[in-house]
Amino acid sequence: MIYLDNAATTCVDVDIVDKMSAILKKYYGNPASIHKAGRESKILIDEAKEKIAEKLRCSSSEIFFTSGATESNNWAIIAIFEMMKDKGNHIIASAIEHESVLKTLDYLKNERGARITLINPERNGRINSTEIREAITDTTVLICLMYVNNETGVIQPIEEVSEIANKNNICLHCDAVQALGKINVDIDELKVSTMSFSAHKIHGIKGSGLLYIKDGIRLKSFIHGGMQQNSRRAGTENTIAPILFDMALEKAINIKNDIKQLKQYFINRVMNEIEDVVINGDEEISVDNIINISINGTDSEDVLIALDMNGIYASAGSACTSGSIEASYVLKAMGISYAQTRSAVRFSFSKYNTIQEIDITVDKLKEIITNLREFDVDI
Ligand code: PMP
Repeated sequence: MIYLDNAATTCVDVDIVDKMSAILKKYYGNPASIHKAGRESKILIDEAKEKIAEKLRCSSSEIFFTSGATESNNWAIIAIFEMMKDKGNHIIASAIEHESVLKTLDYLKNERGARITLINPERNGRINSTEIREAITDTTVLICLMYVNNETGVIQPIEEVSEIANKNNICLHCDAVQALGKINVDIDELKVSTMSFSAHKIHGIKGSGLLYIKDGIRLKSFIHGGMQQNSRRAGTENTIAPILFDMALEKAINIKNDIKQLKQYFINRVMNEIEDVVINGDEEISVDNIINISINGTDSEDVLIALDMNGIYASAGSACTSGSIEASYVLKAMGISYAQTRSAVRFSFSKYNTIQEIDITVDKLKEIITNLREFDVDI
């Protein structure tokens, strides 16, 4: 098996699995209980929180554990809208946000009277911060901009947009899921209001996310019940998730294993050996682990199925939209033609991939494309 879909999710590191089982066996006390077993669990969570805060350059009081970035995005956006409703109802977001952001905005628009302005990226996949600035009105209360796009890997101008948001007294929510461990995430420098993260994109476990909420921003609880997490997120706290998140983060920051080299090698071989392939999004301004290509004269689903039959796993667009035959809304927003979006395939690498795997993949890809183009089919 050659797994090249690491932007969708990653395999869990073996020592994280081992640690998980060790902690589960030993620390089962409810962190909210006042007896020793409970206190021990609580200490584990608090220690992990401190370590994560240090790595992300924020304060531990600003970190909240969630069930994943989908929850983090929902929570931040809805609660900021709610908090700011006396000031206005206008939200600006990039049109290439993850569905967990876009669908939340749809909800606010359809059910809560929000006015949403979506900004398309430029052809290179990057949002122009001037367009965001120009979209601001007196009623703008929130800007949503992801740090790195999950389909193209293009890094977005968060620093610039943060400056704009702060100057105009507008909250800025940033989905940093695809940035974590790929580029430096320094919250102190970025000065965002809220930021979402997910563990399973960095070889951690699924169902484990974070929401950074800047001190002083008093967001309402999204999940109601007990007083856990400073009365901001109810429910018995997950004792293992914080520790494993910290472990995954530590590794993601420190072990890079030449992913950049893998990607460059893949690009060189594909561009030199396969005709009529274009890269979607400017790879000069993208993270090292994601490459999105359109293979002219093919349909991405045919390519993906053929790769799958050969034990090679990639995807078209995001995991949440693959499986549907709709062309990528991200590529469409970049102004890419329908035919080109229909032939787009995303390959995303991890520290576990090797040059040999890339060679096998490109060799197979060449074969598959030749076959598909030969028997071509109206697309
Ligand atoms: N945002 C982005 C950019 C993502 O890539 C993903 C995962 N596909 C999410 C949010 C959702 O994260 P989770 O799976 O933790 O809910």
